Amino acid sequence: MGHRDILIACGLTPAEIEGGAMAVRTPIDGAEIARLKTHGAADIAPLIAKAKTAFERWRQVPAPRRGELVRLFGEELRANKEKLGRLVTLEAGKILQEGLGEVQEMIDICDFAVGLSRQLYGLTIASERPGHSMRETWHPMGVCGVITAFNFPVAPWAWNAALAFVCGDPVIWKPSEKTPLCALAVAKIFERAAKKFGGDAPEGLLQVVIGGRETGQILVESRDVPIVSATGSTAMGRAVSPRVAERFGRAILELGGNNAMIVAPSADLELALCAIVFSAVGTAGQRCTSLRRLILHESVHDTLLPRLTAVYGKLPIGDPLTQGVLVGPLIDAAAFAGMSKALEQAKKEGGTLHGGGRALADRYPNAHYVHPAIVEMPSQTEIVRHETFAPILYVMKYRELAEAIALHNAVPQGLASCIFSTDIRETETFLSAVGSDCGIANVNIGPSGAEIGGAFGGEKETGGGRESGSDAWKGYMRRQTNTVNYSRALPLAQGIKFEI
Ligand code: NAD
Repeated sequence: MGHRDILIACGLTPAEIEGGAMAVRTPIDGAEIARLKTHGAADIAPLIAKAKTAFERWRQVPAPRRGELVRLFGEELRANKEKLGRLVTLEAGKILQEGLGEVQEMIDICDFAVGLSRQLYGLTIASERPGHSMRETWHPMGVCGVITAFNFPVAPWAWNAALAFVCGDPVIWKPSEKTPLCALAVAKIFERAAKKFGGDAPEGLLQVVIGGRETGQILVESRDVPIVSATGSTAMGRAVSPRVAERFGRAILELGGNNAMIVAPSADLELALCAIVFSAVGTAGQRCTSLRRLILHESVHDTLLPRLTAVYGKLPIGDPLTQGVLVGPLIDAAAFAGMSKALEQAKKEGGTLHGGGRALADRYPNAHYVHPAIVEMPSQTEIVRHETFAPILYVMKYRELAEAIALHNAVPQGLASCIFSTDIRETETFLSAVGSDCGIANVNIGPSGAEIGGAFGGEKETGGGRESGSDAWKGYMRRQTNTVNYSRALPLAQGIKFEI
């Protein structure tokens, strides 16, 4: 199947993917696969107006009925999993297994959201006043702008959109300029679900805007977009957050990570080895939850490290659409330059490098495949504290658990973390108030590969947002407290007397 066939199979037409100003390339071989028209401010204003009109109708559709649309969307995704998974691989460069996994995650969040559509529970609250009842209710919030990153071109959008739809909010999606075709393909799938759903799905429930950061900024600045959910780098979050705050909008931020694993003396090293490799080289180290720091107890260091470097030496690198390949390309030349620069700096800071460097350059001169790198570091230096979006794993040693946890937490980011240990004192300490400071903390599982149900996100420079599970739906609704007086008197709270 050629590149073009993958686009056509996803229903993208020549008119949609040709003739625009924005070139889209596949990281597989660097070839241009589409040219898209972009949206400027003048194009986006009517789209926001359309979404507002859609909101006025959609908020009146009962939530379980809204869930029915999401159920139909999930069904369409099931039917199109293979095609969309291939497109994810073509555009983002992750191996097909991971491309398919991303679509499965969309299906899973749809299932979750359908159940949720009958469970948007409020509270009843005991009133201190006789003949009064109190409750908390949840209402649709308004237009939700969703800005997404290149490395997960579809799943994080679905985490937001599936919940936003059941919560009564229309969505405007600004995908990464590196992976816009996935968004266009998903919009087609959604359109089919909306058609099957029938009349009460208003037009403009999902709209996609194409462009770079300037396009995203328009959503960020619009007072008609009360919720902005943005996934991407910490630098992006730093720009977006104050702008949304300035207009008192709600921002849900899913930003960079610098995820670590502690391997304790009692760890099952076979499990640890598999988990390290999957989470450090999966998606070529371009997951927000990629394992970037390995903190090894000194008693396991000399056993585990040689085994790890041996596995790294044999990793199948190549076309991510080919079965058996485990490491696909980096997204682009800038990512390769970032990796090379980080490795240079790590060496200057005392690191000993295993692996690294460009791979398959003869076969793919316009793409950027790399040998994943392991760097033994004398301490947690400046470069280790920085998220380099590439397969670089920094290895450090520790002696006492408290020292490992301190090292673990001494980075600006706070997304995902894990410990490999069979000692319950250690594992429970890691999960306790004095343990990991991340939004995700795992035991005997790597930091990446989260499943739907648990809220996803992290602290510090990761932005504090939570998506996709637990009570994340509350981020897409407004909360209202209601007090109802069904008595014949008007007692005031706190016993205040105010007689006229
Ligand atoms: P990026 O920050 O370059 O871009 C992300 C998105 O934000 C793109 O759509 C981009 O156009 C938009 N954008 C950038 N600046 C903007 C601005 N000022 N206003 C509005 N929109 C703006 O990130 P990327 O390179 O696509 O993705 C990699 C980064 O994303 C990594 O740091 C990774 O850790 C992070 N990420 C985080 C999560 C998470 O859930 N925490 C998930 C995936 C990726």
